[in-house]
Amino acid sequence: KLVCENLKTLVPYESARRLFAASDNTQDEQVPVWLNANESPYANDFAVKSDLFNRYPDCQPSAVINPYAAYAGVNHKQLLVSRGADEGIELLIRAFCTSGQDNILICPPTYGMYAISAETCNIGIHKAPLNTDFSLDLEAIKTFKDKVNLVFICSPNNPTGTSVAAEQIEQVLNHFIDSALVVVDEAYIEFDIDNTWASQLAKYPNLVVLRTLSKAFALAGLRCGFTIANEEVIHTLLKVIAPYPMPEPVAQIAAQALSEKGLLTMQQQVSAIQTEKDLLKKSLVSLGDIKLVGDDNANFILFRTAQKQALMNYLVSHKMFIRDQSKQLNLANCLRITVGSSAQNQQLLGLITSFYQQSG
Ligand code: PMP
Repeated sequence: KLVCENLKTLVPYESARRLFAASDNTQDEQVPVWLNANESPYANDFAVKSDLFNRYPDCQPSAVINPYAAYAGVNHKQLLVSRGADEGIELLIRAFCTSGQDNILICPPTYGMYAISAETCNIGIHKAPLNTDFSLDLEAIKTFKDKVNLVFICSPNNPTGTSVAAEQIEQVLNHFIDSALVVVDEAYIEFDIDNTWASQLAKYPNLVVLRTLSKAFALAGLRCGFTIANEEVIHTLLKVIAPYPMPEPVAQIAAQALSEKGLLTMQQQVSAIQTEKDLLKKSLVSLGDIKLVGDDNANFILFRTAQKQALMNYLVSHKMFIRDQSKQLNLANCLRITVGSSAQNQQLLGLITSFYQQSG
């Protein structure tokens, strides 16, 4: 009875962990392989000092803000650190949209949390679906001028792996220059670093860039993300963020990941993943009826197979977890694989090969 009207019908985000939580606890010997959440396969071993835990942490720790600002090539005042990029999405919606009144624009198929965050805040959602080649439909987008406060563009896009052409983003920024913030979600940008927009803040007052340590930095478990924007936008976001969003251990580990050594490790891991991605892609196309879909500018591969459900079931029965994307707009029969370690990718290819052999 007390539930907010907008939450009554809301379907929560199906996180990779939530979907298969039970599979984690089974007693058999088989080790589950998680290739369904675009995480990094590389483990890390950071140390934390616990003698500070009796104190509240710094709200925006300079030991994290300063090295990330240097890494992204922005001023430290143009940066906000939050609990993952997901919290950045929610803060933007809470700070720049009025509940029950305003709208955001999304371009599906794309990352699900823009819509879910909007729904939880009782904000309307307008859609300008991507073209069939997954480029932006600029004509459709432009019709939403003065109807939306935020435009979400994901590049490289999850789950299509496509990067949006610079000229397209430029047109969107210019079209909405006085009326909406354009949020470029760069969660996967380290896999396509030449396409970053972080250096364009001076030119576009309405540009916002989202980043994370969850993907290339191999720290999905840390929950640490960044919002890059002009000072005024950051100032407003600081009004809505929780008083102590960055737990002390998170800040300590993020600072180490952003050290010179940490950055070098990240870059080496990104090139290893790029190499693995190419190998995986080459092998996949020779199997069964697999057709690659979209592009591979991030750390995952999207493909279509008529036997989507049977293949998923087969992989799950072998504790190999990939992501079903078939409910997304125009992605019928599509599955998404996160590039894993060499051993994990081989295991996956072995299973897919035997699936198609068995199914004829
Ligand atoms: N944006 C995109 C496009 C993503 O794919 C994800 C993670 N799946 C996020 C944002 C959220 O990242 P974080 O772990 O930093 O909350």
